Amino acid sequence: MSRTFHLSDLDSIPRMGWIKEPSPVRALLPISTGNATFFVKQDRELSALHGGSKPRKLDYVLAAPPFSETHEWAAVGAIGSGNVAAAVDAGIVLKKKVTAHLFWTDVSLGVIDKLAFVASHAHHIAFYRSSVEMAFRAPSLVIGQPRAPAPHLPPGSTTGRGMVGLVRAAFELKSQIENGELPEPERIYLPFGSGGLAVGLAVGLALAGLRTEVHSVAVVSRALSTGFRVRSLKNAVLAELSKLGIKDLPSTIRLTVYHDHLGKGYAAPTAESLAACELLAAQGVHLEPVYSGKAMAALLSHAKSRQVKTVLFWQTPGRGGLPHESNWIEKLPEALQKRIQNPAFFKTRRRVLQALAAAATAATVGVRLSGYTARPQWKGLVLGSVEADILFAAAEALLPPGSPADRLTQVPERVDAYLVGMPATMKQEVHAMLALLEHGPFPLAARAPRFTSLSPAERAAYLTSLGARGGMLADAYRGVRDLVLLGYYQQPETWPDMGYEGPRVNLPTQPGERMTFPEYDRMVAKEGELPRGALP
Ligand SMILES: *Cc1c(COP(=O)(O)O)cnc(C)c1O
Repeated sequence: MSRTFHLSDLDSIPRMGWIKEPSPVRALLPISTGNATFFVKQDRELSALHGGSKPRKLDYVLAAPPFSETHEWAAVGAIGSGNVAAAVDAGIVLKKKVTAHLFWTDVSLGVIDKLAFVASHAHHIAFYRSSVEMAFRAPSLVIGQPRAPAPHLPPGSTTGRGMVGLVRAAFELKSQIENGELPEPERIYLPFGSGGLAVGLAVGLALAGLRTEVHSVAVVSRALSTGFRVRSLKNAVLAELSKLGIKDLPSTIRLTVYHDHLGKGYAAPTAESLAACELLAAQGVHLEPVYSGKAMAALLSHAKSRQVKTVLFWQTPGRGGLPHESNWIEKLPEALQKRIQNPAFFKTRRRVLQALAAAATAATVGVRLSGYTARPQWKGLVLGSVEADILFAAAEALLPPGSPADRLTQVPERVDAYLVGMPATMKQEVHAMLALLEHGPFPLAARAPRFTSLSPAERAAYLTSLGARGGMLADAYRGVRDLVLLGYYQQPETWPDMGYEGPRVNLPTQPGERMTFPEYDRMVAKEGELPRGALP
């Protein structure tokens, strides 16, 4: 007979004491078809180190040797790593020097925020062009053991000791279930990065006697998320607990790892993860697209097709908006500075924007592109008639109330004419923006209204909210607004409204006629005349 294990059994294990209150649990509005009820556990609200799940591990890792005994340590991760940011943050709190070893990945939402913070506060930054280059140039970072005088935190700060923080989190959840904050969930969804979060929590749930299954979604390559990896992490945390005098440890855990939501690889957003981020943002739940967005995308696709009743999503990202110095870019190693300032970085943003729009359309095509009234008279060369409708609807919402109808109809026509001569990449971006605007609000929800079917006042409110969201949606909002204004102010009838007298050029009225410039012609100096003050 094994005795019941209590949270107080963990109390003898030293920790920083950073995790004080349980992170809040709250119910979500339905986010998918099917009958499941959804809850979210908001580690984002943990007070330590700007929140997120990483502080749970650091709470234990940093309270034990070798970290508790040195004045400096190193942390390893991608340029946007939440782990490196949390480690640097911990260094600020504990007044320790932290060296960041960063490898390049694509720049997605939230990456610059963390990089700016790390650049501003790390003692030193080493940069590698890829994780492979890091493995070759600094093998001890990847495979070595933490060593004095500057031991390093492994990727994700996943160590046997660190995972004890997640065992503790399972007991925290258990008491929230006992308090009636939520029913015992059948499943928890979360990302699998270094795996410490998933495995530590699954071990904790088993120890707490809960039947909840952990469904983890690999955000790293298959080679880093194998059954072997899971077993060795499980053994590491069990060995640690047993060393710390904890008995009757569970031999089996309920943990599944999915590999089908990774997309192109670690740190690369997928269209579905971007759409999932937007869907949850509408309920005030902030995710990022390379860990939590992928886990949410898996949850959404499973909840539709499988028989699940109670699902808990573990919200792992921190709060963001980290403090940084204005000259942070100058503090980066030169090679990293160059990459960040390279225009290819902006190309990444554009790709992301297209992916987001593609997700929005993919999720809704067929359902929502049917039901449009065709515009028989639309003769656009770049924009389709649905896109013309979207621009018209945006114009109606953005332009002063009471604008004459013919001025509004001209907006899509003029924008189309303007786009004809533009480069293909820009046209693509405009298509993406319009699709995003139309389907962006709730890309995966079943009966969400499309932009064009909202009333003008609702459209205006929606556009304002996009502008205030920041990130890509704000970019899309500004892009559409600028196009609408361009299409509007190209119309000579609008010029008197803003006190513009028109160009000082007589536009030809007949084809083939030459332009005349009387105003400019009058300013031309007479033959032989010299500029005032010039010597003859
Ligand atoms: C690190 C991290 C995780 C995953 O934790 P692992 O223990 O590395 O698997 C999940 N979500 C976010 C946002 C993270 O930064």
